[in-house]
Amino acid sequence: MILLANSEAFPGIEESARRLQAKEDGLLSLIEGIKIVELDPRVRTVGYGGWPNVLGEMELDASVMDGNSLRTGAVGALKGYMHPVDVAYQVMQKLNHEILVGEGAAIFANEVNAVAGNNLIEDSKQVWWEKLALAMTDEEQKAFPNVPLAPLSNNATDPERVRDTTVFLSSDHQGKISAATSTSGWAWKYPGRLGDSPIIGAGSYADSRYGACACTHTGEMSIRCATAHSVVLYMKMGMSLNEAVYEAINDLTYLKDGYTEGVTIHAIDNKGNHKVVSLNCPGNITYWFWESGMDKPEERQAEVIMTK
Ligand code: ASP
Repeated sequence: MILLANSEAFPGIEESARRLQAKEDGLLSLIEGIKIVELDPRVRTVGYGGWPNVLGEMELDASVMDGNSLRTGAVGALKGYMHPVDVAYQVMQKLNHEILVGEGAAIFANEVNAVAGNNLIEDSKQVWWEKLALAMTDEEQKAFPNVPLAPLSNNATDPERVRDTTVFLSSDHQGKISAATSTSGWAWKYPGRLGDSPIIGAGSYADSRYGACACTHTGEMSIRCATAHSVVLYMKMGMSLNEAVYEAINDLTYLKDGYTEGVTIHAIDNKGNHKVVSLNCPGNITYWFWESGMDKPEERQAEVIMTK
């Protein structure tokens, strides 16, 4: 059994490890850990306490994947619900679809009695407006939101510093491999923007025959390279976990524009190995790891590859 998650997972990682240790289903163990992260306002990029879009609205993305059945569930730009990861799971359980977005996702969340609530905290609201105001003239501030939103969304924040997500991967006591993600996405994003977190194959993928992968940071990059599926496919084609992750890093390095700095690949294989590699990030990138036999999860240092 193994459990791998990114640094933002700290409030919920022990819960997931405890459930895996108790031989609970791997995917449900990840979901219960992520639900704790979603409610913790210290995690500024997931659920309650995350960052809003350019209009000051919280739009949340999440996904789940069961590596035995290859069933997935995802929600994008979901407003008004506290546990997008649970709504994503309900999509997988109750619909013939794999992904719902926007209004339809909210209708469905209501229908399955998901926990409703306001995810925008006062501090996020204040910082949102302060940054926005700096990027607008006085006239634009008075006219807001009836102003061009694209330049505001592009310029109100430093694009390298205003994202993150939580991603969890596991192999459970039966060898089932699972993935789950949840995020408020890129702060000050254009309304309706989906990152990689709800896009299966970009932000996450799990296949019990080979392994699983999930990505953090600018989702546009992992969407362009289909990074999570690529890592699993490379393993299917015979590469080791390390080779597969480095090959996906090569794919990202090929991109000539956008923000690849900080994109971090988290991956596990079906033999108990794990690998976390961050691209061109001078900062300190950590992740959480637990495997059977360990008392509790440990925070470890990711490998950093600098190509610029
Ligand atoms: N990947 C997420 C997104 O693009 C954000 C992040 O992990 O930094 O929405």
